[in-house]
Amino acid sequence: MNVEIGDHRLAPFEERARERNEYAVPETVGMSLPSFPKTAFESFVFDSQARGTSGWLDPAAIVEAVNHLVTLVPGDGIGPEVADAARLVVEATGVGIEWDVQPAGAEAIERDGTPLPPEVLESIRRSRVALKGPITTPVGTGFRSVNVTLRQELDLFAAVRPSRSLPGVASRHPPLDLVVIRENTEDLYWGIEFERGTPQTALLREQLIALARYELPRDAGVTVKPISISGTRRIVRFAFDFARRGGRKRITVGHKANIMKFSDGVFLATALEEAEANRDVELEEMQVDELAMWLAWEPETMDVLLLPNLYGDLVSDLCAGLTGGPGIAPGANLGWEYAVFEPVHGSAPDIAGKGLANPTAIVLSSAMLLRHLNEPTGVGDRPRRKNTCQDDPVGGTGVSGRAEVVEGGRAALPVASGIPRS
Ligand code: NAD
Repeated sequence: MNVEIGDHRLAPFEERARERNEYAVPETVGMSLPSFPKTAFESFVFDSQARGTSGWLDPAAIVEAVNHLVTLVPGDGIGPEVADAARLVVEATGVGIEWDVQPAGAEAIERDGTPLPPEVLESIRRSRVALKGPITTPVGTGFRSVNVTLRQELDLFAAVRPSRSLPGVASRHPPLDLVVIRENTEDLYWGIEFERGTPQTALLREQLIALARYELPRDAGVTVKPISISGTRRIVRFAFDFARRGGRKRITVGHKANIMKFSDGVFLATALEEAEANRDVELEEMQVDELAMWLAWEPETMDVLLLPNLYGDLVSDLCAGLTGGPGIAPGANLGWEYAVFEPVHGSAPDIAGKGLANPTAIVLSSAMLLRHLNEPTGVGDRPRRKNTCQDDPVGGTGVSGRAEVVEGGRAALPVASGIPRS
């Protein structure tokens, strides 16, 4: 059976939401609109020639000549290396993609003085879909995280991060098939912060004393943790919809509602309320520390994990570690209108430029992207190539030289095209 990691298109969920009149859902959602670029004629002729078809009379060739506009943000660190590999793999599927390449991160800081030039957001708003490499978040500078900004600006409220054991990749656990669904816009990552020693923090301190007699230490910095019913409801409904359509049976909600009653408490209460209306999928709740223990102990007992933003970030890295490391964990950030696909891992400055980066995570993210574009043939129906991941642990991290990273991408193509579910 083919991978279902990318089977997360929002349309049916949105249609139902629209029927219930619960959300102001824009008319055009989810999908990147196909466009005929100037080069359509050329790609029609050359692609079909490469496949050995006539180029003129083959209707399939005409369909494939329709290109999808996709924003490509290579990122920094190992980003450009692995993005090159992913691009090569996607192009090898024969799906027509017109890439709009947009620099962000370190290169953009040098060129434009900002890690996120406005052109990046403009491009994604045009294409509606992006493939993104990792971007470094410099510590202690005035720059806000590009990743957090993108998710908030584009309202990419659902992060979907599958963790599945891959053939040829050693891990300490039996075959795993978990999905982390992370709320992506609220919580401690909202970005409401008060820096230690500033007049605003002094004022906040006074207000807290007046409001509720909370006395912060004078040398404290503060980060605010807002979690709303509306923000939670949409991710919980998304999780139920995702579980149902993927044939998954159980959602485990991770929280610390016993300690953070008014933030995690809202998350938990909203999830439990939604569970009443979605009884066909089991929902269980678990404190996130206990969840961490079960993930280390018996991860095979887990199915879909639903988490607020911060815990979702931590737990998805943990799950990546369970199935073979950061180099193989893909991800999608989804909203009503836009979708950004990216690996779970960061820019890995320790191995950048050394040709050691494993491109599998971004290649699998590309597979999710192709499914989002309704191009399952790009990931599902191609014949398996020789030298698949069974023979080669998908590029590994032990290769040297940039060319090998691209070769790793080539090796990962069959992985993207046919991971068995179990
Ligand atoms: P990281 O994921 O970059 O690296 C953690 C470890 O995993 C390192 O040892 C690294 O070498 C290894 N690793 C990561 N990806 C790999 C790959 N494809 N192949 C082989 N090994 C790989 O995490 P970090 O070091 O905490 O973060 C580095 C920077 O990336 C930070 O600035 C962080 O903020 C940023 N970051 C960005 C994103 C994103 O763009 N979505 C996500 C996470 C972290």
